[in-house]
Parts: sequence; structure tokens; C-alpha cells
Amino acid sequence: MSATKKSAPAPAAGKNGKALASAKGSPKGGSSKLSKGNEFDHPIFHELQLPSDVNNLYRQTVGSMLQAADLMGLPHQLKIILAQPKNEIMVHFPVRMDDGTFKLFKGYRVQHNNALGPFKGGLRFHHDVHLDDVKSLAFLMTMKCSLVGVPYGGGKGGIKVDPYKHSKAEMERIVRRFTTAIAHQIGPDYDIPAPDVGSNSQHMAWIADTYAFLSEVGGKQADAVITGKPVEYGGSLGREKATGQGVVDTLVELLPEAGIEIKGCKFSVLGFGNVGSWTGKILQDKGAKMIATADHTGAIRNDGGIDAHQLADHVRKTGGVAGFKGATRIDKDEFYKTKVDVFVPAALEQMIQEPEAQMLNCKVVAEGANAPTTPAGERILEAKGIEVLPAILCNSGGVTVSYFEWVQNKTCEQWDLDIVDKKLNKHMVKAASKVREAKKKYKCSLRTAAYAAALERLKSAYEIRGIFP
Ligand code: NAD
Repeated sequence: MSATKKSAPAPAAGKNGKALASAKGSPKGGSSKLSKGNEFDHPIFHELQLPSDVNNLYRQTVGSMLQAADLMGLPHQLKIILAQPKNEIMVHFPVRMDDGTFKLFKGYRVQHNNALGPFKGGLRFHHDVHLDDVKSLAFLMTMKCSLVGVPYGGGKGGIKVDPYKHSKAEMERIVRRFTTAIAHQIGPDYDIPAPDVGSNSQHMAWIADTYAFLSEVGGKQADAVITGKPVEYGGSLGREKATGQGVVDTLVELLPEAGIEIKGCKFSVLGFGNVGSWTGKILQDKGAKMIATADHTGAIRNDGGIDAHQLADHVRKTGGVAGFKGATRIDKDEFYKTKVDVFVPAALEQMIQEPEAQMLNCKVVAEGANAPTTPAGERILEAKGIEVLPAILCNSGGVTVSYFEWVQNKTCEQWDLDIVDKKLNKHMVKAASKVREAKKKYKCSLRTAAYAAALERLKSAYEIRGIFP
């Protein structure tokens, strides 16, 4: 990795598409290219009638995978299998509100692929969640689980609901009713959900309890239907901080190659929720300094350093970073323009578009969130010589410790935190080294390399299993 000097143009994201055209191993199914509008196009988009809107998240995420697939000459049948999820489940269910009225809610569960193991992925509770978002996130889970070496496929789900606008009692009824609606589609050996944006360990506990009532899987084994549970109810030590810990493990592994030391390094964080706050706290404990952060309530800056632990307490009490006394309020543009070594997007998808990428003043972007950088944003970052550590590597710590939780549930064990941390670090270091090797092999960006490394494992699985019948 080299963030200090301009990296070689990636075949996937070359500014003018020349690199794409020269990508070796172009498949029988046709080669990828950048179309007139400088946007990525691929024959498989047309074959499968994927959305034609270049801003569509699903098209963008699958596009990144197809660029790697072309580069490594992945067979056409694998490209089409991976370019669509296996199952898309949509449910509608009524729930009684506290005032006695009823509301109808929409829920999703997308099961992308289970060639490597049960479907695995979080549940997003957000008022603006759509099927294409859930499909993209499920697809990313397949890639992430393959890369980080856990025996899972990919899935994702969610409820179109603003969890902050409902009482605890209403949320309990919404979550339990949703669980009832999908109970026959999930299971400890088939599909194992987890928390994501807007959902938490209490929600996971209600899901586990509801599932235990409804299914034939008895006793403690039913707990393994979901991860991210409270430690008192089958959760793993270290799960809450796991994604942030994984981001930091990745940085420890790869930053030295960019000539950056963690100790004394300056960073900023977009989104100070689970992933952002834990990344901030752990980086700070390693001697790095958080200069700026932003969330849905505003942005703040302190060149002397913002105490991530105190800020996390403030956010817990008030719901956002706004009003924190140890920093000054700034506007959104100043936040992006703040000079740092590392920028960590840890909020939602597609937040680093062209304008944000133009403003960023950093050497490395470490993607804590899923798909935070659009292809157009990434082209700008690349032209500016900013290295991007891709989400499927950087944020895979969460699913890795979810896997540890599942193993502990199945074996009725409880591991100490130091064991969890050590095992997590082993997975992260191994995944980072697979990405490093793929980058050398295919002479591409780290994102394309991460997809290539993930695809290698899926390709082997399909070669051995075959495709039924
Ligand atoms: P969270 O709900 O705890 O935090 C989300 C943060 O984003 C909050 O600070 C919120 O204020 C901020 N945010 C939302 N809208 C914003 C906006 N318009 N502008 C600025 N900030 C905004 O969620 P999380 O669990 O930390 O997840 C964050 C990202 O990381 C998501 O992409 C998620 O899919 C991904 N992720 C999470 C995990 C996990 O274990 N929690 C694992 C892997 C990936």
C-alpha cells in the first residue's frame, strides 16, 4: 500500500477506462468498461436486468465485484450467481401502537449466498431502508465472510421503521412480530441475523426469545439463531467493539506501508455510533488523535484532540456529537476539509460522493461503514493519491466476532475477552495479507484486490461442490 505517492491506476477505477479495457482475463460473457458518462458498465448488468441508474447502490456494489471477477477470469456462471441474491423475502405485518391504533410495517430478509455456510448478516432498523439497500448489504456480507475466513454466506434484513420514534414497548412488539413473520426463513444452521444501524443487543434478545418460542430448535441452541445478543443472554465478550477493533487491527497492519505510525497519527470520523465511536476510542488508546467528527446532529473539531471516550459518554446521554464541550462546532464542508492522516467513514452508504472526495484532505480512507464511497468518489480519491482500505476488509471484525458468538453458543462456552481479541486479530491479519497478495498478483486497487481474494474462496467452493443438478 502506498498512500504517500499516487497509486497506480486501478483497472477497476481508472479515470478514463483504459485500464479496464486492458484488464486481463476478460471473460466469455464480455468485458467490463466505463461507458460514455465515465460510469462502469458490464454485460451482466444487462443480462440480469440490474438497475440502469448509475447511482443505484446495488449496481455500484455488484459492479465492484464484477471488475475483480473480470480481472481474475471468473467463470460466467459464478458471475451471474453472485450478481443476484438467492432469496429476497419481503413481509408486511401489523403492530398495535401504545395508543391502541395499528400500523403496518414492511420488513426484509435477503439471503444472498450460502455456498460457504449459513446466510449471515445484520438487521437494519431505519425509516429509509429499501430492498436494493438490503440486497447490496447482503451481497457485501457474502464477500466479507469469504474474505475474513468465517464459514458463512451473506444475508441482510431490516424493518422500515425509525426506532427512535417508538416507545420500548412498541419496538418490542414490532421486533417480535417481524421475527414471527420470518421465523420459518431463519435458523441457527440456515440464516443467522445480527445488529446493524438502528438495531441493538436488546432487539437481538427479543428475536432470540421469540424464535425459541416458535421453532423446534430447543433450549440454548435456539440462541445461536442470532448474534450481537447481550452478554448475559449468550452474547460474546468483545462483540460490541468488534467492528471498531477490526478497523483498528486493519490500520495497524496496513498503515506502516503508507509510512504512517498509529502513535501520533491524526484522524477524523464520520458517524459516531457503534463503529465510529469504538474505532475512535481504540485508536486514541493506541496514541492516535481524533481531530474532527460528525454525525446526524452536526460536526465538531478540536486540533488539540477530541477525547473519544468522553464524546462517547456525551453521545450516549444526548444522542449525538452536537453540544460536546471539548470541541468547536464546524460546518460539514470544514469537517471534510480538515487535514488528517486517516479519515474513517462510519455512518451510512454512499456518503463519500464527488464533492466530499474533492474536499477530503487525508492520506488514507479506512471504510468502517458499508459501501461509503461511490465509484465516482473513489475515482477522485484515487486521482488525489488517497488510499482506500475497503469495507469488506476493514469492517469485517463485526461478523468475525459474531461467528465467535455462534461457536460459543453451539459449544455452551464463554470465552475471555483476551481470547476473543487474539482470535479476531488473527482473522484480520490473515485477511489483510490475502488482500496484499491479491493486489500484487492482479496489480489493482485494494478494493479490487479484496474482492478478488474473496472470490478466490468462493470459486474454489463452487468448483468442489459443483452446481446442482
Ligand atoms: P449506528 O447506528 O450505531 O451509527 C450510525 C452513525 O451514523 C450515527 O453516529 C449517526 O448519527 C450517523 N449518521 C447517520 N446519518 C448520518 C448523516 N446523514 N450524516 C452524518 N452522520 C450520520 O450504526 P453502526 O452500527 O455504527 O453502523 C455504521 C456503519 O457500519 C453502517 O454502514 C453499518 O452497516 C456498518 N457496519 C456496522 C457493523 C456493526 O457491527 N455495527 C459491522 C459492519 C459494518
